[in-house]
Amino acid sequence: VETAVDRSCRGCRDEFRVTEERIRHLLSAPMFAPGSGHCVPDDVYEARLRQCEACPKLLGGHTCSLCGCIVPVAAKLKAKSCPLPGGAGWQRYDGE
Ligand code: SF4
Repeated sequence: VETAVDRSCRGCRDEFRVTEERIRHLLSAPMFAPGSGHCVPDDVYEARLRQCEACPKLLGGHTCSLCGCIVPVAAKLKAKSCPLPGGAGWQRYDGE
């Protein structure tokens, strides 16, 4: 009798789980709270994420292979910008 074996990679699964937890944990920090003054408006955040999702430099759906940033976290911050050469990606946000 063949027993059911979970053939998925434990390391990858755990890494994914930890990363999702890590993203949630990082985004719960005070600097990401509404009114902190550090975050871009939601529409800018969504536009940044869409650019990353379409970018070949995005690894695993969340990490930028150029700068190592976790994009769901970095894209929240006004002061961050995409590291693509020539300003090809999303830019620093200087609005309110
Ligand atoms: S930050 Fe820029 S280079 Fe990195 S994944 Fe997003 S769009 Fe691509």
